[in-house]
Amino acid sequence: MIEQNTKIQFLKGVGEKRAALLSKLGINTVGDLLRYYPRGYRDWSKTVPISQAVIGDECCIRAVCDKTPRGAVIKKGLTVFKTSATDGNDKIAITIFNNKYAAQSLEQGEEYLFYGKISGNLYSKEMVSPLILKDDGRSDIIHPIYPLTQGINSKYIEKLIKSALVLCPDCFEDPIPLSLREKLCLMEINQAIKQIHFPDSEDYLAEARRRLVFEELFVLQTGLMKMKGIAKNKSEIIIDPSPVSQFLSTLPFKPTGAQSRAVSECLNQMNSGFVMNRLLQGDVGSGKTLVAAAVIYAAVKSGYQTAFMAPTEILASQHFKTLTSFFKNSEIKTELLTGSMTKKKKNEIKQSVLNGETDVLIGTHALLQSDVEFKNIGLVITDEQHRFGVRQRNALSEKGQTPHTLVMSATPIPRTLALIIYGDLDLSVLDEMPPGRQVTETYCIDSRKRKRAFNYIKKHLDSGFQGYIVCPLIEESETGADLAAAEDYAEDLCRNEFKDYNVGLLHGKMKPNEKDKIMSRFACGEIQLLVSTTVIEVGVDVPNAVIMVIENAERFGLSQLHQLRGRIGRGSEKSTCILITDSSGDATKKRMKIMTQTTDGFKIADEDLKLRGPGDFFGSRQHGLPDLKIAMLTDTFTIKESGKYASDIIKTDYNLDLPEHQALKRSVDALFNKNILMN
Ligand code: ADP
Ligand code: MG
Repeated sequence: MIEQNTKIQFLKGVGEKRAALLSKLGINTVGDLLRYYPRGYRDWSKTVPISQAVIGDECCIRAVCDKTPRGAVIKKGLTVFKTSATDGNDKIAITIFNNKYAAQSLEQGEEYLFYGKISGNLYSKEMVSPLILKDDGRSDIIHPIYPLTQGINSKYIEKLIKSALVLCPDCFEDPIPLSLREKLCLMEINQAIKQIHFPDSEDYLAEARRRLVFEELFVLQTGLMKMKGIAKNKSEIIIDPSPVSQFLSTLPFKPTGAQSRAVSECLNQMNSGFVMNRLLQGDVGSGKTLVAAAVIYAAVKSGYQTAFMAPTEILASQHFKTLTSFFKNSEIKTELLTGSMTKKKKNEIKQSVLNGETDVLIGTHALLQSDVEFKNIGLVITDEQHRFGVRQRNALSEKGQTPHTLVMSATPIPRTLALIIYGDLDLSVLDEMPPGRQVTETYCIDSRKRKRAFNYIKKHLDSGFQGYIVCPLIEESETGADLAAAEDYAEDLCRNEFKDYNVGLLHGKMKPNEKDKIMSRFACGEIQLLVSTTVIEVGVDVPNAVIMVIENAERFGLSQLHQLRGRIGRGSEKSTCILITDSSGDATKKRMKIMTQTTDGFKIADEDLKLRGPGDFFGSRQHGLPDLKIAMLTDTFTIKESGKYASDIIKTDYNLDLPEHQALKRSVDALFNKNILMN
């Protein structure tokens, strides 16, 4: 008996070698095979008249063969068969290379369907080596096209799937509960699988796709919600919102409308008797720190401690400075804990956190160490959340009795993706910049104009401003050679081009205190030009820096470029960003164009997602999201709809114990075990 988990070798035509190739495509079982969806279709039902066939396009033509093709040997091993076909009005030349079988199947006077790319010119169109079907009156043939790998072609996969469907027509149990399927008029799973491969019509195909997309997003979100424990927890941590307005009035500036809104959204929730799990999204510079400060203030005034995590030491210490200055007129005690501190200092701080003297503890991952204990934690804030795995977030929450959490993301995440990754979080968006900001102008040049860019930098340094040169050379994981190259480059800049200026070098391999030293020298204006690698990506705030040159701009993703650019344009002065690239590839051009045209982080993030796909969106797959097989993150409506039903189910049957949820449970388990989501 063949079933879903039957090994693929069991099918006829799959030997060891083919099995290995199929395995590369993720196909190990019959179930995997049937879930290997076509990447497109060849629709033989949509024929066009020859006169309307567009040169360069693929299309299907119904035409009568004029004469039986004749072969001519051009050279050894190359035989060309030529004939022509007519649709009653026009003629098209048909050329077939080296395929005697295809050529001989054509008979004079018979009608065929020819599928292929149109070449030639307006007066004499041609199809070279088209696919040919005898027109037997069936005009509704939609053929699947599968993604390929070396040694496996689409036809082979098609054949395998056909035979699997015959041997095992009801392979799958349906993870979507019957009641839901009926409510939403979704096709049954096995029917959908058959239709997605061999659709009876376009309508069937659309319905099959709708069902499979829904299923994929539904199973994914059910799993995510389960994992994150969406069940709305009651909370005993009640935060009084009333002191906050007085606190805000002590600040040097008035909160923007968006900031006020976000603050009250947080405060309302923390006062509600339920746990807050909220994502605060705001573009770089939108002022998330103020929102955090207000929320922390309220928590502390109600007698609770706050833990505040940032992904890097630089960022943690910057938050520490900002918050200390925000709180300078209050009695709130803020401490910074980082890995580079002496053991003694660390112990002192830990002690003061444990006995409740410290109200706010700021740090990096060090906060996750089990020996950091809070007396009375009520709020956990994490900045740049996507750098933390879900497990880390939970580890921190476990330190208290489910504290409120606020997750801050400066990477504008497209709403669709946020809905999936942060499916259980409520969302506050800072969609308004503080007043007085100027839009950063962005230009893209090639390296021949580098000299001019450097002169432009000098002009600004001479007027008392500061600048960045960013080279994408050193990431944590990169090699010593890259490090040396970056150092050489920086030294070269110091010694030659910018010898009359103070230049500092910042890179990922530096010790935290070295970095901090350079950063603080840059922040106080002693260093005029910072030559840096991606470590300045997040959070660094030096308003006097108004110019940035990014070398090898093609090596950065869009969102990364946007983050980098966010380091300038932070003061009232106009800022300029110059992207240098010698790459003329289409993808690069597209990215550079987007950068020069918009500064809207959400727009950029959307484009980034489109260009790179969700897997690559956050860089090295840290988010651990499974790849989507059929759904797209632009399927916003289905994401929302399936999310809603997933959350309904999780709310009433958290462990998926009900009989009607057993198939769903198995699907969720299979998906999440495969993808080791909790990284
Ligand atoms: P983000 O973390 O969202 O990138 P920050 O919190 O670092 O942004 O704020 C960016 C800058 O804007 C800081 O220098 C901050 O002092 C300033 N800022 C924040 N809110 C306001 C406001 N309402 N009016 C004026 N300036 C503000
Ligand atoms: Mg910030």
